[in-house]
Amino acid sequence: MSSIDNIKRRAEANAKANGIFLCPDLDFLQNLLEGLKENEERYGYGSCPCRLASGNFEWDRDIICPCDYRDPDVEKFGQCFCALYVSKDVYKGVKSMEPIPERRPQEKVDRALGKTPTQPEPLTETPDASNTNRKLFYCKVCGYIAFREEAPQKCPICQAKQEMFG
Ligand code: SF4
Repeated sequence: MSSIDNIKRRAEANAKANGIFLCPDLDFLQNLLEGLKENEERYGYGSCPCRLASGNFEWDRDIICPCDYRDPDVEKFGQCFCALYVSKDVYKGVKSMEPIPERRPQEKVDRALGKTPTQPEPLTETPDASNTNRKLFYCKVCGYIAFREEAPQKCPICQAKQEMFG
């Protein structure tokens, strides 16, 4: 397992390679590095220190540090979700660190929390086959079926777009 120094060196090298910086608040940085070390020991991989991991590598792959969301967050907000990685402006104190919105999709957060996926809304009426304006649409991605006049804008189960309904 890596020592805090090794984890820090790795993070510094990654920041340098990407033209960004590590958190300028040294106490805060230390806490994040300790969190990464703990996660590495607990799961066998360094998942994000400020998010709950599931312990399933495949499910947590997107939040192994540096996570899939770091670059767009540093680009847009000047910092990653935890503020381990920051932009030059934040590093220099031109811009302050502050809480930013979670970019990770909700279904992945729910899965890590052990919640079941969202279920489709129960039908409030019996489908009336005699109503010729309505048709059956099915999601080609997950198989969700809707009986209505037009395909749903978005699948309530897998979030696939309207064009994925046939
Ligand atoms: S939010 Fe920051 S600390 Fe967390 S995994 Fe992403 S890059 Fe690492």
